[in-house]
Amino acid sequence: MEVLLGKTLEELQAVAQEVGLPRFAGKQLAEWIYVRRATSFDEMTNISLKGREALKAHYTIGRHTPVAEAISKDGTKKYLFQVGNEARSDEARYIESVYIPDNDRATLCVSTQAGCKMGCRFCMTGTLGFHGHLTAADILNQIFSIPDADKLTNIVYMGEGEPMDNLDNVLHSLNAMTSAWGCAWSPKRITVSSVGITKGLKRYIEESECHLAISLHNPFAIERQEVMPIEKVNHLSEVIALLKQYDWSHQRRVSFEYICWGGVNDTPKHANELLRLLKGLDCRINLIRFHADPSTPPLRGETSAPSNSSTSFSLAGRLRGSNEQQMEWLRDYLTERGITTTIRRSRGEDILAACGMLVNALNK
Ligand code: SF4
Repeated sequence: MEVLLGKTLEELQAVAQEVGLPRFAGKQLAEWIYVRRATSFDEMTNISLKGREALKAHYTIGRHTPVAEAISKDGTKKYLFQVGNEARSDEARYIESVYIPDNDRATLCVSTQAGCKMGCRFCMTGTLGFHGHLTAADILNQIFSIPDADKLTNIVYMGEGEPMDNLDNVLHSLNAMTSAWGCAWSPKRITVSSVGITKGLKRYIEESECHLAISLHNPFAIERQEVMPIEKVNHLSEVIALLKQYDWSHQRRVSFEYICWGGVNDTPKHANELLRLLKGLDCRINLIRFHADPSTPPLRGETSAPSNSSTSFSLAGRLRGSNEQQMEWLRDYLTERGITTTIRRSRGEDILAACGMLVNALNK
């Protein structure tokens, strides 16, 4: 059955006509799906009974609740959703979303793919491999179907997957979230992250008004490519050159995510290169604590012990998170030199819900 969640107003108007309803019923459908968040056609009482029966015969709304959840001691909640062909369990796939309450803010981190192709060496999700793109409905369902949906103030597309690698569906979901006929959310409440895929980013910047976060993690190409294979085919310098062509001084924001590894990317040399690279770009940097895979301490493929004093970058040494003092030094150094830099508080580490830890563990 065809799913309605994720369809545009125009597409819903076409659906209405297809089942013998007047075109304006498309607007009613949009309101029931995106504003009133109906989960069944029976709730749509301003649509004729005959029309609802016709809709039921050919379409489904596409809403389904999470199949498992875990709650962190810090209040973060992780939800497991089934996506894909649910009728055949052998083809069913799973993804996770993370709900992060924080005083008067409540953020949901959504997935855009099941697993991920990008293979970032520090990321547990990367070890899952790729298990398929999520549809716009799969993405929106995470936002609509968690028990805390009414409390959400912000959405970040930073869960499983690389959004630019599934851009059509990501843009469809953003369109439904921000359009007047949809959820009418301000684009300023949504941030989409990327490892930096220039072609996709150009389209994203031009077709969406939501914020952007780039996973940077190291300003030196030769070092970055050791932890982020994307650097081998799409250089960070090209991404920064693209970003510099746009105005980020008001309305929308570009930020850079920077996981800090002791002696590896938190040195004065790295700080100065970051300043050089980002000069002239209105942006901010979020420093992130490294969340190591608790079950496999060394990086995949590593056998040798870490060198304590080494400042050179090599996967022969195990990546260790920077200490608090060094992160604070980096934050202050960059901020004093013109790039607003903050340290992001880790959330949900105890339930494998923090950055880079989504491995659908709730399904095991
Ligand atoms: Fe994929 Fe993001 Fe993990 Fe890289 S950090 S492997 S892009 S989920």
